Amino acid sequence: MSGAGGSLDTTLGFDEALERAVAAAEPARSWLVPLLAAEGPEAERLRRAADELRTRTMGDEVHLRALIELSNYCRRNCMYCGLRLDHTGVRRYRLTPGEVLALAHQAEDLGYRTVVLQSGEDLYYETEVMAGMLRSIKAETDLAITLSLGERSDVTYAAWREAGADRYLLRIETTDPALFAAMHPDGDLERRMRCLGQLKALGYQLGTGVLVGLPGQTVVSTADDVIWMHELGAEMIGVGPFITHPDTPLAGANGGTLDQALNLLATLRLVFPHAHLPATTALGALDPQGGEKGLEAGANVLMPNLTPETQREAYLLYPGKPIVDVTSATCRDRITERVRAMGRTVATDHGHVRR
Ligand code: SAM
Ligand code: SF4
Repeated sequence: MSGAGGSLDTTLGFDEALERAVAAAEPARSWLVPLLAAEGPEAERLRRAADELRTRTMGDEVHLRALIELSNYCRRNCMYCGLRLDHTGVRRYRLTPGEVLALAHQAEDLGYRTVVLQSGEDLYYETEVMAGMLRSIKAETDLAITLSLGERSDVTYAAWREAGADRYLLRIETTDPALFAAMHPDGDLERRMRCLGQLKALGYQLGTGVLVGLPGQTVVSTADDVIWMHELGAEMIGVGPFITHPDTPLAGANGGTLDQALNLLATLRLVFPHAHLPATTALGALDPQGGEKGLEAGANVLMPNLTPETQREAYLLYPGKPIVDVTSATCRDRITERVRAMGRTVATDHGHVRR
């Protein structure tokens, strides 16, 4: 974000903006922008306010969602992503349905209550292949299932919901039409918005989110993202700093910063008191304490990695991804220990969205 570019009617001072947020005012640029642009002691106050609200609305429990990165094949060419189709230097892999089912059992054995099945946009997992996998996981475990498989047809989304998927994560990435087009040469902002509307209509617990610090992004455009996600009725929101990948067309760009991401996370908590907000892996890639900082700025979810160790380094969206070289059990132990060290507890329920 490069400061408060774009047109603004009236921007409030920080104190008044924070008051509006705490009073749960209708989200508006006039108070979102000063929060998103906060620095120094004001940024600290913003994060404290978000942390206090999170304690009141969501409690001290942290929900762990075990991430299974199914496949790193992708048909798309998002400019920022290391898995983009044109990045030929990636060793591509796919997990079989049998492997995914075994991982789901492992997730349950490790005490997790949710698995997140994520991949590039890989049409290999046809509607029925995926639906079969979902039915098996539901029949053999008591796990909640979140999907993060990109844009698919309405028919496919309906079949997967029918087969047992509880939640879907599809980040809008940015609602700025020019920036979206520049970042997604094969994308279409309206199509992505339609996908999210369809997922909501099908009754999925709805997750979306944005990247922070994309080239040319401003705090005004991020404020508009927040307003749009509010209108959508997002129930889970993942925000991550854009991290530069050297083998993408954005190799020379500056990435987003931890402060930008934490300001957005804290602002989101104030706008969405009951949403599930992860301290995303990308925060941990910028700072070894990024997870803790996210949890202290309004977040209540962490996503430990359950992908087989042999494949993790091939699912490299950006460099510096943490915990690629420890076993899934060690990953679980470390995350649990970090949560406890903060005086918080690991949730034992499914952590469904409260409606
Ligand atoms: N392919 C699916 C999709 O795009 O929705 C799911 C997997 S995709 C790898 C998950 C998220 O990774 C994207 O929504 C994007 O925001 C994030 N991502 C990709 N490249 C990134 C980068 N260089 N820095 C930070 N986040 C990145
Ligand atoms: Fe593919 Fe998702 Fe990466 Fe875009 S962000 S290239 S859709 S994996």
